[in-house]
Amino acid sequence: MARVNQNFKKLPGGYLFPEIGRRVRAFSAQNPPMPLIRLGIGDVTLPLAPAVVEAMVKASREMGVKETFRGYCEETCCAYDFLRFAIRDDYQARGVDIADDEIFVSDGAKSDCGSIGDIFSVDNVVAVCDPVYPVYVDTNAMAGRAGDFDGERWTELVYLPCTAENGFFPELPLGKAPDLIYICSPNNPTGAAATYEQLKVWVDYANAHGSVILFDSAYEAFIREEGVPHSIFEVEGAKTCAIEFRSFSKSAGFTGNRCAYTVIPKVLERDGVSLRDLWNRRQGSKFNGVPYVIQRAAEAALSPQGKAQTKAAIDYYLKNAQVIRDGLSAAGLTVYGGVNAPYLWVKTPNNTPSWDFFDVLLKRACVVTTPGAGFGPSGEGYVRVTAFGDADATREAVQRMISVL
Ligand SMILES: *Cc1c(COP(=O)(O)O)cnc(C)c1O
Repeated sequence: MARVNQNFKKLPGGYLFPEIGRRVRAFSAQNPPMPLIRLGIGDVTLPLAPAVVEAMVKASREMGVKETFRGYCEETCCAYDFLRFAIRDDYQARGVDIADDEIFVSDGAKSDCGSIGDIFSVDNVVAVCDPVYPVYVDTNAMAGRAGDFDGERWTELVYLPCTAENGFFPELPLGKAPDLIYICSPNNPTGAAATYEQLKVWVDYANAHGSVILFDSAYEAFIREEGVPHSIFEVEGAKTCAIEFRSFSKSAGFTGNRCAYTVIPKVLERDGVSLRDLWNRRQGSKFNGVPYVIQRAAEAALSPQGKAQTKAAIDYYLKNAQVIRDGLSAAGLTVYGGVNAPYLWVKTPNNTPSWDFFDVLLKRACVVTTPGAGFGPSGEGYVRVTAFGDADATREAVQRMISVL
């Protein structure tokens, strides 16, 4: 008889977003006095850049012609040279020297962050920031690296609290060093972006202990301040201890298009084995690449024209972030993030529990946010507000939120 992976039974059942959905549906059924404004979503809303659309149309036509039709991609790392070279040049523009065969193009940073565990032993100790993007936790729980869920925490994970006191960037843990360390900067959900010095501390630690940093920089295109690295590989020493996950989802509005990449430097070895080679082997066996049309679209997003157009979209979201930040701060709330990220991390007034404040905003302001507690124990006392909405709706949402404080 087939038996299931028992680790799945331990998962608390996708609590956060289903529960938000339930509360929103129940409230909507009671005919709310105003239309809901959703500032809870972590998804882009602006359309693809014209340069990207043009590239997709052109590539689609090529697929319909015998001479230019493409089947399986036979090039290095399951991706066409044109895209790997464009990504390499994009790194080069920031002074980071990455070889094109260290770049693995994929259908998403979510899948890569989850699948990377395949190349690591199941007995590695995993550290995650708290609050955290749930993918890192759930995928390690499925693999059997997280232990049991005790209602609040996984027994075998190392939680690195990210709080107002430490500027939402984790301090080094005491005791035995974790083997795998997930860091996301700019951060989802807190909106905090790590400085060079902050990252350097972790790079030195990882090199000293043989740990590997799994660095998620899905939001690097939102960085506007100096001194904030766009890539972990801008930090000296990172090539011998870090893997970087990047995505076109938030940088170029590709959440529905699906294209991302993972960078593993050849010098990164553990147990005398190249992690780049292991990932290459893993991808070769479990993945067949991203559609040609989408790879052309991603290439176009990195062209000068594409860059200018996608930057305009990000500026639009960052303007929303500023509107939320300024409005809520002026009304007396403590607001973090939103400067180098599309997320604002808002302290609830008078230490209201985050689900209660979520309910107040939903029922009295008809604004949907995300309760911080859903991202981990240290998220209690916060709600996440996103800047991905329509500008007018965002302005109105801020006014409504202020009016119910
Ligand atoms: C949105 C997001 C991603 C991107 O995932 P894709 O699968 O590439 O769409 C990765 N990491 C974080 C933290 C995110 O919020």
